[in-house]
Amino acid sequence: MDAVPPDTISTGELVFRGIGVSAGIAIGRAFLRTPPDDHVIERDISRADVPREIARYEAALIATRQQIRAIQKDCDPDVAGIFDAHLLFLDDGPFIKNVFTGIEGRRKNVEVVLRDVAQGFMQSLSRVKDEYLRERANDVQDVARRILHNLAGKQVTLADITEPGTIVVANDLSPSETVSINKDRVGGIVLDLGSPTAHTAIVAAKLGIPAVVGLHNISQEVHTGDELLVDGGKGLVVLRPTLERRTQALRQAESKRGIEIELGRLKDLPAETVDGYRITLSANIELPKDVDAVLAGGAEGVGLFRTEYFYMSSKDLPTEEEQYDAYRTVAQRLAPAPVIIRTLDLGGDKFLSNLDVNWQESNPFMGWRAIRFCLAQPDLFRTQLRAILRASIVGNVSIMYPMISNLDEIVRANVILDQAKKELLQKGHPFNPHVEVGAMIEVPAAALVVDMLAPYVSFFSLGTNDLIQYTLAIDRGNERVAYLYEPTHLAILRLIKNTIDIGHRHGVWTGICGGMASDPLMTPLLLGLGVDELSVSCSALPMVKDAIRRVSLSEAREIAELALTLQSSVDVHDMFRELTKKIAPEILELME
Ligand code: PEP
Ligand code: MG
Repeated sequence: MDAVPPDTISTGELVFRGIGVSAGIAIGRAFLRTPPDDHVIERDISRADVPREIARYEAALIATRQQIRAIQKDCDPDVAGIFDAHLLFLDDGPFIKNVFTGIEGRRKNVEVVLRDVAQGFMQSLSRVKDEYLRERANDVQDVARRILHNLAGKQVTLADITEPGTIVVANDLSPSETVSINKDRVGGIVLDLGSPTAHTAIVAAKLGIPAVVGLHNISQEVHTGDELLVDGGKGLVVLRPTLERRTQALRQAESKRGIEIELGRLKDLPAETVDGYRITLSANIELPKDVDAVLAGGAEGVGLFRTEYFYMSSKDLPTEEEQYDAYRTVAQRLAPAPVIIRTLDLGGDKFLSNLDVNWQESNPFMGWRAIRFCLAQPDLFRTQLRAILRASIVGNVSIMYPMISNLDEIVRANVILDQAKKELLQKGHPFNPHVEVGAMIEVPAAALVVDMLAPYVSFFSLGTNDLIQYTLAIDRGNERVAYLYEPTHLAILRLIKNTIDIGHRHGVWTGICGGMASDPLMTPLLLGLGVDELSVSCSALPMVKDAIRRVSLSEAREIAELALTLQSSVDVHDMFRELTKKIAPEILELME
């Protein structure tokens, strides 16, 4: 889907349309988070823009030379020579010249041309035999980074936000930045990139912060201090909203708050249908502190603890003790409710900078991710398993393996789990020897061989975010293909049904912890398909409980059967919209 140009309205408003990933309305001042130094945004430039781009480059070169000379003057004379090499690159050599000609020839912004020229130099240098020359690749990288930094101006981070209700505007946010978002200060999130199941969307929804992503180039159009209106339900962002629009939005927000208060009253009521069929409604968490929201929302436990966020929010790799502390706190606070701790799901779009691992892959979501990565790093994996096992004596803890694609992975993971148990026995640390193990079903291959996997696990949890990504061949973080992300695609419904039915035949209960479970429009369908547990974003708990309590199981079954016969996923979606409009119109109002 190409970028939709913003609508300019005669009133001076500029309206951007993107993908709403966390409902709600926010009005506030923009805070533009400049991208990290080596993250470059590509722009085409016109012939008329070339002189301006060249002037930016020249100014950045001058600033870079001055900085290097200043550092050289102050540093130890033994290392000052390093900077001679850097200054040499900045002389009028081919490196610098190629950028000038590249701007004119390629008509791209200077950052992109500089990045590509630097990469070309580094690649050529890395191939030469002479070690001294090979080492110079690092100098090229250093100099290029410094120039990029000067092109970007002062770098700002989310820690610089001081005003409550600030709207963060960025090209994208990293997972570690996203988890560090302070809800007291951030009122909305607006991004160029992203899709409904990208990490930023998941965290924004959890925090209940209105968010619109996939806006293509909004970070180029908005400046810090601009007034913005974010409508996360409609996927709209309005720059310089009129008084009329702001008044209308505030009225809507007020009405939604009323509904939220009403739904909050369901907190202690069971997640049960009109005809008395009860399922487990649990919550997804990323950090131990999220337990507050789990308790406030009245969830019956945690169906998915995404532990990699805990790793990413720590400065150093968390030790066994630190992890044990975190898992124990969660288990203890929620006991006797169940807590399903998912083992590390690194890779894809979640990386750890403090691990000595080369994450460079051309296809990271299909690559060294989740269980594949952990099986290749048994020490790291065993450390996490020992920490989870130790926490299992203070609460109702289970272990869940992510991204299982075949039986062998479960068997190998269980071998490492047994080793972890032996190590704990040797050290005298107690643990629950009967801790249950489950598999995430998020790779289509696994959904098709659940009969083979079932004898080796106690439960399945469908990760629909990845299941949809892998089944429909759409990168879950890519806004261009986000329109193809169809939870109601018949292929997805069949895979879900197959997993639940075969799981039940083998006495294995099946939950859903992907984003589909947090969408209340999907609740009747999932109930009708026979799911045992829904694990949802904390902010979605009241809506999903409301949806469960407003439908009967017989109606849900009929609807699921009908959905499995319809050819168009749009028809299925429309059918659920109509049903929700009929039985729970307040949910639609909250979502829009
Ligand atoms: C999923 O894939 O649906 C899931 C729950 O896991 P994650 O979003 O963390 O990949
Ligand atoms: Mg997943």
